[in-house]
Amino acid sequence: MHTFSYKNGTLYCENTPLCDIAEAVGTPTYVYSKQTILDHFKGLQQALSPLDSEVSYAVKACSNLAILNLMAREGAGFDIVSGGELWRVVQAGGDPRRCTYAGVGKTPEEIRYALEQEIYCFNVESEAELRAIDEIAGSMGIKAPVAVRVNPNIEAGTHKYITTGKSENKFGVDFDRIEALYALIDEQMPNLEIKGLQMHIGSQLTQVKPFIEAVAKVAPLAARLKERYGIRFFSIGGGIGIVYDGALASGSPDWWEHNHQLTIDAYADSLVPLLQPLGLRILVEPGRVIVGNAGVMLTQCLYEKKGDAKTFKIVDAGMNDLIRPALYEGHHEIWPLQQHDDQDTVVADIVGPICESGDFLAQNRTVADVQQGEYLAVFSAGAYGFSMSSNYNSRPMAAEVLVDGSNWTVIRSRQSLEDLVRGEIIPE
Ligand SMILES: *Cc1c(COP(=O)(O)O)cnc(C)c1O
Repeated sequence: MHTFSYKNGTLYCENTPLCDIAEAVGTPTYVYSKQTILDHFKGLQQALSPLDSEVSYAVKACSNLAILNLMAREGAGFDIVSGGELWRVVQAGGDPRRCTYAGVGKTPEEIRYALEQEIYCFNVESEAELRAIDEIAGSMGIKAPVAVRVNPNIEAGTHKYITTGKSENKFGVDFDRIEALYALIDEQMPNLEIKGLQMHIGSQLTQVKPFIEAVAKVAPLAARLKERYGIRFFSIGGGIGIVYDGALASGSPDWWEHNHQLTIDAYADSLVPLLQPLGLRILVEPGRVIVGNAGVMLTQCLYEKKGDAKTFKIVDAGMNDLIRPALYEGHHEIWPLQQHDDQDTVVADIVGPICESGDFLAQNRTVADVQQGEYLAVFSAGAYGFSMSSNYNSRPMAAEVLVDGSNWTVIRSRQSLEDLVRGEIIPE
């Protein structure tokens, strides 16, 4: 579900015409729907309510302070992957004691900072990292809460760059080595407190089957670790996929029911019965499913160029603003902010201004034949959109806006030219 729809040919987010925002703030601009974000968050919380559960929002999907603050006020936990993300959560009013910290390359400074902030748990990805945390906690005279990330070697059926639960991926510890590692912590690492078990098999999963396989494989391990070491939680990670193709239609409840996509309810209905008997606290770490379809990126058509082979619509947003098409072959629906009765469609490549052939938002796509100056919305851009943007080609980063009904707020202003060179120094 989301709240982007046409009323009399004008595209709205909730009760706000998107062209009002484009004209006031300029483009490219990310726009998020508060109602959609809250619907998704509460829906997942509700679906998992038969369990002792916690929804830990994966900060990296969309890490604007206003979004984190919204989550914090709903009582979310946070799944973080860097010291910077922890700092953001704290700035946003989130509780560090509800943060879980994942990632294969935590630095000593980051580990110390997380210990000072008394985070809920480190989700640890190797023996070497366990030893580092043990040593740092020891030097601070405290115990560090840890869970090990198990790699269950399950095929997630998603793009190879976002598959994380196979043995050849860099993530987690092989399933067969896990119990020996917990024994090692217990025997040799006095400054660690064994607190849980974690896994995360990948992102943008559109079937429930890999989740079921992974939970079915790992739950008995969690039960054994509970018995032996008294672990208190089992985190099953994030990864619930969203609808990209047909994103506009997916705003209607009927569409969801009639299309066999992975829904929050299907996910919960399959997993709750497998998890309930464990008697453990269950954490989920969703990112994309909370914010993905809650955000669009607005862009303006600058030029049209007709070549022998193709028609290009050149727009003012590039791969530095939204890298998913280039990096993951991601599909994003693209719709005009204003429909006209006499508007034709055209098969075109929607491309940005960046000097790379990989700089496209869509290829060979049937889109509205928008003319110079007209605006487009790139759908499903709320997750891994702004948060993956960069200054490549010395382009200032886009603005971000949060819509609440017919009100809207700029939650991050567009970068200035001064921002582009901040911190740079010409030697004497
Ligand atoms: C990225 C990530 C998530 C969130 O994944 P989504 O597909 O956005 O739900 C959760 N847990 C970990 C450890 C991650 O790295």
